[in-house]
Amino acid sequence: MGTGGLVFQPALLRGSTANIGTLLPARLAAMDYEGRQTRLQGVLAKHRLDGLLVTHLPNIRYLCGFTGSAGVLLVTESTRVFFTDGRYTEQAGTEVQGARVVIARKPPLIAASERLAAKGKKWGLKTLGIEGDHLTVAGRSQLTKVLQSRLKLREAPPLVEQARMVKDAEEIDRLRAAVLQGARLFDVALRTIRAGVKETEVAAEMEYAARRAGVEGMSFETIIASGPRSALPHGRASQAAIPSNGFVVCDFGVILTGYCSDMTRTVHLGVPGQQARGVYAAVREAQQAGTEAVKPGAKVSEVDRAARNVLRKNGLGRHFTHSTGHGVGLEIHEAPRVAAGQAEVLRPGMVVTVEPGVYIPGVGGVRIEDMVVVTERGREVLTPTPKELITI
Ligand code: ZN
Ligand code: ZN
Repeated sequence: MGTGGLVFQPALLRGSTANIGTLLPARLAAMDYEGRQTRLQGVLAKHRLDGLLVTHLPNIRYLCGFTGSAGVLLVTESTRVFFTDGRYTEQAGTEVQGARVVIARKPPLIAASERLAAKGKKWGLKTLGIEGDHLTVAGRSQLTKVLQSRLKLREAPPLVEQARMVKDAEEIDRLRAAVLQGARLFDVALRTIRAGVKETEVAAEMEYAARRAGVEGMSFETIIASGPRSALPHGRASQAAIPSNGFVVCDFGVILTGYCSDMTRTVHLGVPGQQARGVYAAVREAQQAGTEAVKPGAKVSEVDRAARNVLRKNGLGRHFTHSTGHGVGLEIHEAPRVAAGQAEVLRPGMVVTVEPGVYIPGVGGVRIEDMVVVTERGREVLTPTPKELITI
């Protein structure tokens, strides 16, 4: 071989960091798609809707099981029809449950609106709900054009999102598996984080290990933020080399069997000074206080307040610049928002993150995040990873 050519290093592909084992269940419990659609049908009238045109893909997946990227689900009091295109003939046939499948030659939204124009009257439809956050302006005008004045369109409240807030047992099982699988990546991070290593290299090792374990993808772009970059709450891994002293915020998650995990741990390179130890201890205490506030009947704003009060008491309140948490499920960020001013009340089956952070510009930041499920009597922390400050 001449010099300068690429040298293949098979050892890299078998590196110890890559093998974290898989938590993919051999068999998945069936989801109650039928029941979810029936419950949606049951609340339409209360919102003065004769039907709902579901265009948000995670909502479609939740309701009928379809995992593809093009489809529209029409749910009325008497009918349930799923429209997709020819690319998904086979997939829709095996995945979709509880709704009739129409394979359209046109984009699914057009096909659905033509069907509505033709059959709306027979189905007794006068007012059709649309998902305002998930229908483009162009989509809405296409719909209006095809329907003309046969049907009134109205922006519906987030009915499916509200149903999705409370997870059933099958969903919690999947979330639990995703959380445990995701947590294993922290071991990979700990083996990889060293002074001089690039943030992207750490993220790459974690993502490679995750893929090898069989995940469908990362829940979001892996955050590895070191040194002063740790003060960026959303510091996606960059080309920066990890400095020899300072915090490294690692925020990451995987998608396993459709459900997302989300966790953050912050480690310190070199010996932490007094300020660094103080900030870490305060964030850890805030995270604990927020977690303990999670219980059925509590408002999400109380969880936020519990965490925020600890940081205020430590003189760090102004450096906590985001809300305390969010729901997690089929999407990485979903209802409820765990934030000040939010009136949503926690109910058993809700799964939220508790993730206070402190970010001091030019110095660095700390965030600690777990996923927590609300139980009948309180809460269960799904994330298994310890929270003592780790120094590398
Ligand atoms: Zn996170
Ligand atoms: Zn989060």
